[in-house]
Amino acid sequence: MHHFGVNDVEQMTDIAKTLREKLRMEAEITPPTVQLEQVSDDGTHKWLIGTDAGNSVETVFIPEDDRGTLCISSQIGCALECTFCSTGRQGFNRNLSVAEIIGQLWIANKSLRQEGGYEMLSANDRIISNVVMMGMGEPLANYDNVVTSMQIMLDDSAYGLSRRRVTLSTSGLVNQMDRLKEDCPVALAVSLHAPNDALRDVLVPINKKYPIKELMTACERYLVKAPRDFVTFEYVMLDGVNDTVEHAHQLLDIVRNVPCKFNLIPFNPFPNSGYETSKQSHIRVFRDILMQAGYVVTVRKTRGDDIDAACGQLAGKVLDKTKRSLKRINIEAIA
Ligand code: SAH
Ligand code: SF4
Repeated sequence: MHHFGVNDVEQMTDIAKTLREKLRMEAEITPPTVQLEQVSDDGTHKWLIGTDAGNSVETVFIPEDDRGTLCISSQIGCALECTFCSTGRQGFNRNLSVAEIIGQLWIANKSLRQEGGYEMLSANDRIISNVVMMGMGEPLANYDNVVTSMQIMLDDSAYGLSRRRVTLSTSGLVNQMDRLKEDCPVALAVSLHAPNDALRDVLVPINKKYPIKELMTACERYLVKAPRDFVTFEYVMLDGVNDTVEHAHQLLDIVRNVPCKFNLIPFNPFPNSGYETSKQSHIRVFRDILMQAGYVVTVRKTRGDDIDAACGQLAGKVLDKTKRSLKRINIEAIA
């Protein structure tokens, strides 16, 4: 099913006929429905995947010269309310099931193979070489389903991806990071976004529960088991908010015990966000301070923004059960 992208039991000719017959009678293979597929000018693909009435999530494929990365969603909406994130602004509906998470890889794989005329490729000839759990939702808040899905990604009889090529991004759920390092230690990215607790409490509110010091020691513990010898710190660049020279120096100070790389993400705007993207010149100065201190720093290129597929722009459709959007409207009406 995963190896060859087959969902018709009759096509599974490498298993016994009697077993095929049994499966046909007793099992059902239903991929999630694709509501919309869009292709950007730069080759980025986005699928809007329906889950149930009124809800959908987004999956994005980013082709590069040396790899193809699929960005997968883990929840419908997100409950963690990071202020610069459009998913966080939408509220939360529910966790995705294992079928809905791994189904995104199944759909993307099948669709890209068909598009390229590569249906007959073996699973070792991968169009999707890397997976990042960086779509909608906080993957560690849907722990069991995300871990089971990642185990299927790593399984040689399914997708056979190496642990180094599957990256989970978290806003810093420290207790679950400790579990992950035992259960399924994949590459880790941590959404840091602020170099001190006062600012991070505002931008990434889960910081109030797991402040920076605790987060850093959790990263150190994770690295003992991680498939790579560094953590990637993601840092969204918000104009005048977290992008000054002083912030860069504070950042160097808080990460000093954690082998790491930095990924600076120019803020991707969405309507009524209240934030603006840092100026190019400020991003360069910030990057150079980190580089001069000896760190590897990448500035994430915005891909697929003509189809709203860039980081933090994934909206899907979320029937908000937290009534957060309603609260916000009321507050705005009062203001
Ligand atoms: N919930 C997880 C993974 C999903 S978000 C997490 O927070 O890490 C993937 C990355 O995109 C995170 O680093 C997130 O902070 C960042 N992001 C969210 N909104 C963004 C925006 N508007 N512009 C740029 N990056 C954003
Ligand atoms: Fe959730 Fe991540 Fe967005 Fe924060 S940045 S609201 S954790 S999806």
